[in-house]
Amino acid sequence: MKALVYEGPRNVKVKNVPDAKMEKPTDALVKVTTTNICGSDLHMYEGRTNVEKGKILGHENLGEVMEVGKSVSRVKVGDLVCLPFNVSCGYCENCERGYTSACLEVNPGKTGGAYGYAGMGPYEGGQAEFLRVPFADFNCLVLPEGAEEKQNDYVMLADIWPTGYHATELAAVMPGESVVVYGAGPVGLFAAYSAIIKGASQVMVVDRLQDRLALARKIGATPIDDSESSPVDQVLELTDGKGADTGCECVGYQAHDVKGHEHPNMTMNNLVSSVRPTGRLGIVGVFPTEDPKSPDSLEKEGQIAFDIGNFFDKGLTMGSGQCNVKKYNRRLSKLIETGKAKPSFLVSHELGLEEAEDAYKHFDARENGWTKVVLKPAAASKGERSRKATAR
Ligand code: NAD
Ligand code: ZN
Repeated sequence: MKALVYEGPRNVKVKNVPDAKMEKPTDALVKVTTTNICGSDLHMYEGRTNVEKGKILGHENLGEVMEVGKSVSRVKVGDLVCLPFNVSCGYCENCERGYTSACLEVNPGKTGGAYGYAGMGPYEGGQAEFLRVPFADFNCLVLPEGAEEKQNDYVMLADIWPTGYHATELAAVMPGESVVVYGAGPVGLFAAYSAIIKGASQVMVVDRLQDRLALARKIGATPIDDSESSPVDQVLELTDGKGADTGCECVGYQAHDVKGHEHPNMTMNNLVSSVRPTGRLGIVGVFPTEDPKSPDSLEKEGQIAFDIGNFFDKGLTMGSGQCNVKKYNRRLSKLIETGKAKPSFLVSHELGLEEAEDAYKHFDARENGWTKVVLKPAAASKGERSRKATAR
């Protein structure tokens, strides 16, 4: 099969590799029809992880079930399914409590697994023609009738929309509250989108990339351009000097100033300064346990100079971590099915798998107009399906 393989920093190639195949009776084999490039893939692309050469990337996957193991009973051949980026078993202590991002079974010695990602277990990614899906009955979200035509909406349920939503859950955003979101990448825009759906009265999104800020405005948020003046001052001005009720960090350890110099603590400390006393913060931008290639000496050890005094003085509350996609994907999918949400608003490019190498270059450069890339490894084969009309 054809797949996009990591070969080294800023070097990915679409190559012929051995076909993905069934390994366990609980597996399904999926023909990937839609798969995204994610901001998280760029940490690997830029050589800022320990991902091994030869890894197939891609953790935001949607496709058609071609084969199921003999222990799979709910998911059927022909189903169109969206796969949470988390690979999880469904029966360990953490999965049982809904924390599928911290599954104890799928990545021995660590918690949590994912497709095609550094340090997240042996699972290959879905920027490929086929994908092996472990624990298929637990992991597959079976999509409803009409989903073929809305694949660019439903594929956002694999990671990016639930992750943005997770930021608003960690920050416990309530109707009528104000929210500041740092980062207008896909995650930040979906945090803003989710806050708006939840009935926030004011949603402010900080970035300096004009195409992304324009999208923030389009979905009903207030864009804040931090290349114009201090984003903290702008938030305070918009909130009568009080600060936002809640805040979401959607940038992570590669946060940088407008000149491009990295300051891994920049968004965290700006966030603390932008939120009112007793406010709440949701941190979903990635902060790794070590980052040897960082120019920052603390960050090399996975640490930042955090403004703990200001944080404590304000009595803020903070939640962080990977998204447990299964906690939200079914409910968010209903918003797509009923036409109440259209997360494909973010998609700027729909390309074939063979165009992925080039797409990585443009997306990594955060080039104007490259807000989200959707790849189509296999054209959906209508007629082959025997899908039920209802979601499972
Ligand atoms: P992205 O790189 O496309 O977007 C990041 C945005 O942040 C860019 O638009 C950039 O201009 C902006 N930015 C950089 N420095 C900034 C600063 N100082 N102030 C304000 N904005 C700044 O990435 P993305 O796909 O949106 O992902 C964002 C983060 O979320 C990444 O770290 C990614 O790995 C992480 N992520 C986490 C989870 C999870 O489960 N927690 C899931 C997916 C992605
Ligand atoms: Zn992702």
